[in-house]
Amino acid sequence: MGIMEQAYFKLIQSIGEDPNREGLIKTPERAAKAMAYLTQGYEISLEEVIGDALFTSDNDSMVIVKNIEFYSLCEHHLLPFWGRCHVGYLPKGKVLGLSKIPRLVDCFSRRLQIQENLTKQIADTLLEITGASGVGVVMEGQHMCMMMRGVSKQNAQMTTSSMLGQFRESANTRQEFLQLIRPTI
Ligand SMILES: [Zn+2]
Repeated sequence: MGIMEQAYFKLIQSIGEDPNREGLIKTPERAAKAMAYLTQGYEISLEEVIGDALFTSDNDSMVIVKNIEFYSLCEHHLLPFWGRCHVGYLPKGKVLGLSKIPRLVDCFSRRLQIQENLTKQIADTLLEITGASGVGVVMEGQHMCMMMRGVSKQNAQMTTSSMLGQFRESANTRQEFLQLIRPTI
């Protein structure tokens, strides 16, 4: 048994269950696999995410990828939070392959996180990789630790944003971004 599997075995015991009963016999193994999957972001390097998908371009208009689903685990309770992430940037000589932005979101989501830091890490990294003149990231999340426990609020949604460069300095740029990520349906 691996360390994580042992830990789940003990966890099941500690809540008063019998980890050897039929329904639970393989649970430590399955739970460990699931946890490894949900935290695989630690294993992914930025080089792997970006690969050779950074292209020279003289486009300096805003690029937006919106409604990127994300799934993460809150670092306070190890409970899921999930939702949608909207990413925009103003290229300055370089654009990133489109599919790389969702991968960047996954790379940071699949760790133990709080939504505030997750939002900032995505924005900071995109700025660093592309050298863009501005980056904006907005995340809308629902948090199991608020829904299943604590205040037990089912519909509360948390919105976090990180605006860098032009997105912070120019109200017009920010407005354009916020306008474009508005729900269309
Ligand atoms: Zn939590």
